[in-house]
Amino acid sequence: EQAQPAFGRVLLKLSGEALAGDRGFGIEPSVVDRITDEIRAIHHMGVALGVVIGGGNIVRGALASQKGMDRVQADYMGMLATIINALAVQDLLERKGVEVRVMTAIRMEEIAEPYIRRRAMRHMEKGRVVLFAGGTGNPYFSTDTAAVLRAIEMESDVVIKATKVRGVFTSDPTKNPDAEFLPTVSFHEVMTRELAVMDAAAVSLCKENDLPIIVLNLEDRGTVSAAVRGDRVGTLVS
Ligand code: UDP
Repeated sequence: EQAQPAFGRVLLKLSGEALAGDRGFGIEPSVVDRITDEIRAIHHMGVALGVVIGGGNIVRGALASQKGMDRVQADYMGMLATIINALAVQDLLERKGVEVRVMTAIRMEEIAEPYIRRRAMRHMEKGRVVLFAGGTGNPYFSTDTAAVLRAIEMESDVVIKATKVRGVFTSDPTKNPDAEFLPTVSFHEVMTRELAVMDAAAVSLCKENDLPIIVLNLEDRGTVSAAVRGDRVGTLVS
């Protein structure tokens, strides 16, 4: 069946942890296989698709700096980690016949193209999936913020944040059995109740630019495609 997408342009944010699978560290090929199937399915729906992948499965800057490392140095390591992840995803997507480009926020031209907004848009017009790697290119930011920034720059209709839980809850559902699932929530509520959606910088950027976020569970097969089709899955933050 060839479903009509509800969104023309989509930015998908995957955490680095998603690539690690149950091990929690590194890159698990079977998980990358499943994720790239999902990306291919969305791509086949004719959506202009950008993807931002985190790096938390390899390095997380704030954690490294808690252990005594210089924060800026640790953050650069984190940004490099996102590039490693993007190359893994690119490799498998290409082997599945999807045209894909990696663009890095930090120049690394032997490996991937530098991020240039107009070129990224051109790639998407030509039907290529663009993997935005290297975060924002700046320390003290997150890949969530990078995802929102690129989504705004690409004039995306929505940011889909793929996580390990069904959506947004009133508290952490993995710790609190009474946590209540919220099918929809406003940016204002996310901010005032400090709900775990994205970091504050990313949420406020979405709010200022009227960019909705859908938070959903990547582990439920087909959920990302369902969201792109316009089905009500996960939590809609708007
Ligand atoms: N990072 C950064 N600037 C950015 C994006 C990421 O410094 O614009 C660093 C930061 O240290 C972060 C790490 O890269 O901890 C990995 O990214 P993140 O933790 O956002 O990945 P995720 O949690 O999505 O796997």
